[in-house]
Amino acid sequence: MAGANEPREFDLIVVGCGISGLSAAVTAQQNGAKVAVLERAVKEERGGNTRYTESYWRMRSRDAVSEDFEDQLANNSGGYPDPELIQDAMRPYDEWPPLLKSLAFTDPELIATIAREAPVALQWLESFEVTFDFLPNYFINESTTRMAPVGGGLALVEALAGYAETVPDDITFFYETTAKALIHGADGAVTGIDAVGKGNRRLAIHGAAVVLASGGFEGNPEMQSHYLGPQALYIRPVARGGHYNRGEGIRMALDAGGAPAGDYGSFHAQPIDPRSGEQEPVVLTYTYGILVNKLGRRFVDEAPTTVDASYESRTRVIMQQPEGLAYAIHDGRLDDVPNWQKSVRTRVPPLMADTVPELAAQIGVDADELTATIDTYNAACPDPAGFDPIHADGLATSGLEPIKSNWARVLDQPPFRAWPIIAANCFTFGGIKVNTDAQVVNMDGEVIPGLYAAGEVVGLYYRNYPGSTSVMRGAVTGRLAALDFTRRHNRAA
Ligand SMILES: Cc1cc2nc3c(=O)[nH]c(=O)nc-3n(C[C@H](O)[C@H](O)[C@H](O)COP(=O)(O)OP(=O)(O)OC[C@H]3O[C@@H](n4cnc5c(N)ncnc54)[C@H](O)[C@@H]3O)c2cc1C
Repeated sequence: MAGANEPREFDLIVVGCGISGLSAAVTAQQNGAKVAVLERAVKEERGGNTRYTESYWRMRSRDAVSEDFEDQLANNSGGYPDPELIQDAMRPYDEWPPLLKSLAFTDPELIATIAREAPVALQWLESFEVTFDFLPNYFINESTTRMAPVGGGLALVEALAGYAETVPDDITFFYETTAKALIHGADGAVTGIDAVGKGNRRLAIHGAAVVLASGGFEGNPEMQSHYLGPQALYIRPVARGGHYNRGEGIRMALDAGGAPAGDYGSFHAQPIDPRSGEQEPVVLTYTYGILVNKLGRRFVDEAPTTVDASYESRTRVIMQQPEGLAYAIHDGRLDDVPNWQKSVRTRVPPLMADTVPELAAQIGVDADELTATIDTYNAACPDPAGFDPIHADGLATSGLEPIKSNWARVLDQPPFRAWPIIAANCFTFGGIKVNTDAQVVNMDGEVIPGLYAAGEVVGLYYRNYPGSTSVMRGAVTGRLAALDFTRRHNRAA
């Protein structure tokens, strides 16, 4: 690919080897670019979070996102954005004032672009012999439609990286190489990356543009404590891949003047068993029992709606409890829920006892407190007729604070069981503002030449994560970045 004014090694430099980085690298190569991919991990662990996800996509078919896709993203937008500013979002993007272009809110143009491009990205991935289907998941009840690639995110990583390895003249992988800083040309455009390799060896890689696809900061305790608060001490990445995502990409873009977007004070929270070393050891049965904290007290409505739509907000409340810990308490009636085991991914067995005081002793909670909590809860439960584990059944407590809105049945039948639960950080929400070509937008609403962001580096989510949209965000934004880059450079050639 031509168009360079000065000698350089690569056209496009991609930081990160998950779905967003690989989608960018391979799309750019298919359009004629010579690409470098920097990856902090060793080859065997490449792929960050993507490597460990089952990779559900919020789709109703191979050709369309779910019915609720755009509404869900829009509903979870910002806090209370200024309507005077937001009304300009109805105008064509070119006419938006700079304040709006750089505003941290859910940009409707970006949502619409992701919705339009997700099926294109899915079908492009299928061209690498990955098959998408409606695969089973761990929710007993759910509120939307999802598809996933057979073999999960690992299949995506290996298919794209496998393809990239067949074109070694075009795509070069730098493993165990961590991007640290952007290199700017004389005109301010981004032209490369300063990185460190094994042994803290420094290297500079030059190109015509950079795609930051290095994930969020779920693997960085300093940034988590800074943005999420001191209770972040008690959380950890939901899978091994998250430990590699230490926020350098986001920091590099902010340092270059990129506008922040996404909810810096929040993250995609999942309820996991802290005793388990497995990947994503979620415990999602608590909707059929109760949650208590270390003081033996309930603290939240365990079941305001279907579990897929409520577990994240419940988990964030767990994080705020003493020592960031709660217990899911069940009795023998859990066995009335068909196939409940699919919602418990930890293989560490629950703590079991024949009586509530014995269970309290096992979990180190005051027996009188736990007994009082369960007695009060039991007294507030309705007639159990109509219990329906598959749908939100409206069996709610009465006169109880906090209420339990669904599946409220007394807990009095041994064996009593308890699973400890902490919040896991699947990925952070705080990221960088991009336009619909995945170009990084600066604080003044202008594009930073030569700088793209993709995947978790893109700030998109606020408050609540509309599930099954992050892998598609990665694939779409990675491809948008590569397509914009190759369009510009092929034109300049
Ligand atoms: C267990 C689990 C289940 C999930 N389930 C779903 C789901 O069903 N659906 C869904 O949509 N999402 C899901 N997610 C979230 C989703 O997988 C991720 O948000 C998405 O894959 C992120 O893609 P990415 O390319 O942005 O980042 P990643 O896949 O995390 O890739 C980032 C890469 O950058 C590398 N890197 C980081 N810093 C640097 C640096 N400074 N220099 C060089 N390399 C660096 C990392 O090593 C990593 O390879 C799940 C995540 C997990 C862990």
